[in-house]
Amino acid sequence: MTNLTDLTIADARKGLAAKSFSVVELTEAHLAAIKAANRALNAYVLETPERALDMAKASDARIAKGEAGALEGIPLGIKDLFCTKDVRTTACSHILDRFTPPYESTVTANLWAAGAVMLGKLNNDEFAMGSSNETSFYGDVVNPWRREGSDAPLVPGGSSGGSSAAVAARLCLGATATDTGGSIRQPAAFTGTVGLKPTYGRCSRWGIVAFASSLDQAGPVTRSVRDSAIMLGAMASHDPKDATSADLPVPDFEAAVGQDVKGLTIGIPKEYRVEGMAPEIEALWQQGIVWLTERGATVKDISLPHTKYALPSYYIVAPAEASSNLARYDGVRYGLREPGKDVLSMYENTRESGFGAEVKRRVLIGTYVLSAGYYDAYYLKAQKVRTLIKRDFDQAFEGVDAILTPTTPAPAFAAGEKSGDPLEMYLNDIFTVTVNMAGLPGISVPAGLSLEGTPLGLQVIGRAFDEETLFRVGHAIEDAAGFMAKPQDWWSKA
Ligand code: GLN
Repeated sequence: MTNLTDLTIADARKGLAAKSFSVVELTEAHLAAIKAANRALNAYVLETPERALDMAKASDARIAKGEAGALEGIPLGIKDLFCTKDVRTTACSHILDRFTPPYESTVTANLWAAGAVMLGKLNNDEFAMGSSNETSFYGDVVNPWRREGSDAPLVPGGSSGGSSAAVAARLCLGATATDTGGSIRQPAAFTGTVGLKPTYGRCSRWGIVAFASSLDQAGPVTRSVRDSAIMLGAMASHDPKDATSADLPVPDFEAAVGQDVKGLTIGIPKEYRVEGMAPEIEALWQQGIVWLTERGATVKDISLPHTKYALPSYYIVAPAEASSNLARYDGVRYGLREPGKDVLSMYENTRESGFGAEVKRRVLIGTYVLSAGYYDAYYLKAQKVRTLIKRDFDQAFEGVDAILTPTTPAPAFAAGEKSGDPLEMYLNDIFTVTVNMAGLPGISVPAGLSLEGTPLGLQVIGRAFDEETLFRVGHAIEDAAGFMAKPQDWWSKA
């Protein structure tokens, strides 16, 4: 039998239904894998083995009674941005490192209601700000992948680096993640996993630590497109507790997986052919076009003329919202408090020692662009650009069903390579932020290996609330690419 930790969610579901193994066995296999790997990879910031085994036993009991839910018995890792009742939730920030929420996020509550098992909380960039998982208070996450012939550590992408590393290294069958400017898709591309950012409003944001509320969206990281559809089906819901959550039925996403792409029109945006893009990325993109054409899709060149303004406007809107969202961390109600001689100095001391450098940079930028003299010049202007970006997509989708682009301009980079240069780091999101600015769904599917032997991803962007087309096209790419590569296990021996 295959190793239990190597199964997809779909196969684990089959195995559990056939009673080939129990949920407790499946969970124990993952707990052992985490134990062996976590020192080297640092994917989990909190392991919850006792809770996992309790949940597993309860799940076995439900299966025995014939009451299995949609994700029954599936062991998952949870990004530490999702509040989990009575389980420490930190957003990987010192300011929250003693915070234990008295409530559960809607997305995780939905997962437990569907029968899933929580293995622990996954590392991420502090408050989800970053592209390499090097800003976490709990230290860097290491990519399980390495360049051929080298054992230098690579970054797993960010901010959901714990999620992507854990899924790639078989430390869970799937993971939750969040994406504000690319934090699900970029780490998925860097680790050979599937990362889906659903349409804004598809999953409730209630109980997820807020970064930039008009951009944040929860989604899954998995090892297959089918698993992504299975997880999204369980995560999504209309939630009256989140005013931006969409009051729409949750379709049977899995039914879209395997439907052919014949008759679909796929747009190729010329503005995504950027300077400095690695030649292998361009080659992969062309390969993606060939795969989809061979399967009966029509490919069409399109233009998204405001693409070049997406990053600069994102880096105004996101910090503006972050500065406002993070104002609540003042030492009064949550987590850390550093005393001072009066209340103002208590705020200052708490925020000075509680936030890391990247978070402070965002708060400073955000406060600046929202300040009286600069609001119109920066924030309002960025909002107008955002409307233009959205309009580009609206126009494009009049003639195409989905858009194909690379996920990232280059494969996973080395640890430390960009951490000293915020602009270099921000450039990583060049192909992903537009999607958040427009509120659209996007999926990254592993499609090949770089010249260095590390994974590369292709991104499919869809119309709002049309994740089904993403699953169709994503599955066609997955099938054509036949991406079977997995990282060599060096970590459990390290
Ligand atoms: N890398 C981007 C940033 O740092 C996106 C992060 C995210 O999607 N959470 O803002």
